[in-house]
Amino acid sequence: MLGAIEAGGTKFVCAVGDETGNIIEQIQIPTTIPDETMPKVITFFSQYPVKAIGVGSFGPIDLNQECSAYGRITSTPKPAWRDYPFVQTLKDAFGIPIGFNTDVNAAALGEVTFGAAKGLDSCLYITVGTGIGAGAVVQGKLLQGLSHPEMGHILVRRHPDDRYQGNCPYHRDCLEGLAAGPAIEGRWGDKGSNLSDRKEVWDLEGYYIAQALMQYILILSPKKIILGGGVMHQSQVFSSIYKYLKELVADYVFLPELRDYIVSPGLGDAAGITGSLILAHQALEELV
Ligand code: ADP
Ligand code: ZN
Repeated sequence: MLGAIEAGGTKFVCAVGDETGNIIEQIQIPTTIPDETMPKVITFFSQYPVKAIGVGSFGPIDLNQECSAYGRITSTPKPAWRDYPFVQTLKDAFGIPIGFNTDVNAAALGEVTFGAAKGLDSCLYITVGTGIGAGAVVQGKLLQGLSHPEMGHILVRRHPDDRYQGNCPYHRDCLEGLAAGPAIEGRWGDKGSNLSDRKEVWDLEGYYIAQALMQYILILSPKKIILGGGVMHQSQVFSSIYKYLKELVADYVFLPELRDYIVSPGLGDAAGITGSLILAHQALEELV
């Protein structure tokens, strides 16, 4: 039996299951402070004979195994979780292998193994929610360098009519600062879910996301692009993305039919937790 944690900014999803993605039991725990959240996580897994646990975490996180900070959450805006030794805490509690990666990398792994990118050796999973983040599988492996990519914070060209200044605390008008859920609310004065019939909102949203996808396509050439997160529940964003991406790419690179190429998660909301089970399985095999 394997354990999985999808550690998000508002809730932790904890599950036990196996490497085929089969989930036996699952609970949700609110993300408050580590001293409150983690004992509940540990109590949950203590009930089961788990051989390894995989964690897909909000971040940024430290993934450099040579670094003493490995396995920590680093510069999160949630002060109680800053520098929190996530992996060490679980290792101390259970003494079993712990897989650790970002929430979006876990989701990319879930989607490439069992979801919309099944059978492919590459994909990009992007979430557009409270923030924007992306995970990538390249040549069958999660993309990792010094640490993990932070593709949500790339720079995009502003729309000439867009007066919203952007709300990323680090870069102001990066992609996340202009196009994540809170930026939509900041620009238009209402939650995205209440703006469904405002065409201009979703046209502009697609304008920014298409630019980001253009750059990811040019650099990584992914075989499938999967867009999840709360904002993508507005299905009209997909048509805006297709329209702008077509204009931007301008037949320079060959792309498959966009409706088949840029899609919703095949696993729906379960992409992250399923990927975390796979991270657990990988940790068990590699004994990390
Ligand atoms: P998180 O990113 O915190 O894991 P979500 O992916 O649900 O969670 O993203 C939350 C953000 O998405 C909020 O800013 C919210 O306003 C926005 N959002 C959620 N549902 C919708 C919707 N149906 N339409 C537009 N925006 C939405
Ligand atoms: Zn930023």
